[in-house]
Amino acid sequence: MASAERRPADAVGDGVVDLTSRVDAVSIQNAGPGAGDGSIGIEASGLRSTGASQHATDADDDQGSSAALQEGSDGAGAKTGKGEEEEGGESDEPDLTASADLEDSSELSASDEDSTWISWFVTLRGNEFFCEVDEDYIQDDFNLTGLSTMVPYYEYALDMILDVEMPAGQTLTEEQQEVVESAAEILYGLIHARYILTSRGMQGMFDKFQVGAFGRCPRVYCQGQNVLPAGLSDVPRNCTVAVYCPKCQDIFHPKSTRQANIDGAYFGTTFSHLFLLAHPELIPSRPSQAYCSRIYGFKIHQTSAYHRNNKDPSNGEGGSGRGSRRKSSKKDKARHSGR
Ligand SMILES: [Zn+2]
Repeated sequence: MASAERRPADAVGDGVVDLTSRVDAVSIQNAGPGAGDGSIGIEASGLRSTGASQHATDADDDQGSSAALQEGSDGAGAKTGKGEEEEGGESDEPDLTASADLEDSSELSASDEDSTWISWFVTLRGNEFFCEVDEDYIQDDFNLTGLSTMVPYYEYALDMILDVEMPAGQTLTEEQQEVVESAAEILYGLIHARYILTSRGMQGMFDKFQVGAFGRCPRVYCQGQNVLPAGLSDVPRNCTVAVYCPKCQDIFHPKSTRQANIDGAYFGTTFSHLFLLAHPELIPSRPSQAYCSRIYGFKIHQTSAYHRNNKDPSNGEGGSGRGSRRKSSKKDKARHSGR
């Protein structure tokens, strides 16, 4: 869990560097202090998220910058964006960022385009884990119960998701627009977490799972098993998303840092397991092999200092040592009984 939380900060750090290398070294300093801050600050931070990720996508940039910006939650992305904007005015280069932002805003609010906000959002880089939520589902107030208190500018955010145009004469300032964009992203995520537990949502995720859209288990003996997105918490802003391997029944960081910055609550703790119960044919048999560490071909004796830390139940991968077997965790017991 701790590592799952630590990951985004690392990714943010990467993103900051990558992004600022395009813009201005001063931005790095601006972004620095907020880099480790995982909170989703609605007022000041993370506001740029949707627009910025679009920006990143358009620029066809490197992986990292988009990852940092993708996350609506981290202060670094927002601060970087801000620094970018401030510095943009002073630099001699044409102010690419400002114009890009304007385009983003118009794209976000434009409802006369072919694609909906939802179909645009799910195709953003790093958002590959999201499926498209049916608008019918979102339009049913019952499905959104309780979310209005969790998302600021709820009505505006909902209208943005559903491509509802603002009443004539009513406009948002640029700053408000950014807040609403960020809120829409959060709201969509929270709706998504509920939607994928419905049969239609599960079907959408099934299609993605079948083509490996969530990636594959990095564990060698899982032999490229397709994984599922899994949250470690149903409360937003606690943990970033992980992927769950049905074969080794363990969780991993997503391969892409962009994806790894997404809030795990947008997928929830229940989905991956309910999904497998709904599709039992997808439950693979457990890996037949376990890794055994060897030196010059010889197994390392269990009394060796090499195994002294195997008593730690969290040391899962060292399962070859008997010490770890004896001290099997609850999870292991559940696994064994499940066989
Ligand atoms: Zn696996």
